[in-house]
Amino acid sequence: MARIAYVNGRYVPHASAQVHIDDRGYQFADSVYEVCEIVDGMMIDRTGHLDRLDRSLGELAMGWPLDRSALARVMIEVARRNRVRDGLVYVQVSRGVAPRDHPFPPAATRPAIVITARRVDPAAVARKAAAGVAVITVPDNRWERVDIKTTGLLPNVLAKQQALDSGAAEAWLVDADGMVTEGASTNAWIVTGQGTLVTRPARSGILRGITRATVLRAATDLGLEVEERPFSVGEAHGAREAFMTSATSRVMPVVAIDGRPVANGHPGQTAMALRAAYLDAAEKTPLGRTR
Ligand code: PMP
Repeated sequence: MARIAYVNGRYVPHASAQVHIDDRGYQFADSVYEVCEIVDGMMIDRTGHLDRLDRSLGELAMGWPLDRSALARVMIEVARRNRVRDGLVYVQVSRGVAPRDHPFPPAATRPAIVITARRVDPAAVARKAAAGVAVITVPDNRWERVDIKTTGLLPNVLAKQQALDSGAAEAWLVDADGMVTEGASTNAWIVTGQGTLVTRPARSGILRGITRATVLRAATDLGLEVEERPFSVGEAHGAREAFMTSATSRVMPVVAIDGRPVANGHPGQTAMALRAAYLDAAEKTPLGRTR
């Protein structure tokens, strides 16, 4: 089946979908994005992702490319046209197409939009979660506005590749004070020896993960003790459990950090309980019948 992409108002074959060479996303990473998971024909936390998109656009003084409710419908339609029952929808908005120059283009320049969808094998993700993954720690050398979900991801790309090159699945980024901020594409969590869930506050240094917010609700539902505070690499090395969260991995147990096993080197109970409780705590929007 040919994949379909939505590009600036048209549904086009994914294989031949194009953006202009003067698109500011391409020229300057002057663009923002969202990734939304689809589970068993339901879009997860679409409202949260659209709220964050609204915030990212607002922080960069960028407009919506089409109104929010229309964009929400197109996300569903792209998933349907690609017959995605389990997978991801990707939304990217750039400041538009204009001759290359740093200042914002004329106000009449229309933001550009691309929406794509792809299938992900849920069994493969479940197997990965059952085994757990390894992470390494690397310096966080990103700019201060990592709360804005821009496509300017080069530091994240380099950190992720470094992780893969060393046999790990993710890089945990560490600030100048030795505190873990977040993963290259995930939020970072530990469980202390006392069983308290710890994750960095959303105030600074991290993207305000939508999965993170839902997992915080799931933790409350499970009656877990939660502390939103920074944690150090040393504390992570000595933690009872570690895990990471994102729309693409939900709750993914971390079983090794910098080559050392976390506790006994197996996925922790809390992480697995949160993984199981996550979907109940999430917003689920049915796609309807996928064609
Ligand atoms: N941090 C970073 C840097 C990310 O790229 C992502 C994934 N987009 C996350 C955290 C997790 O965010 P979410 O749960 O909204 O996918």
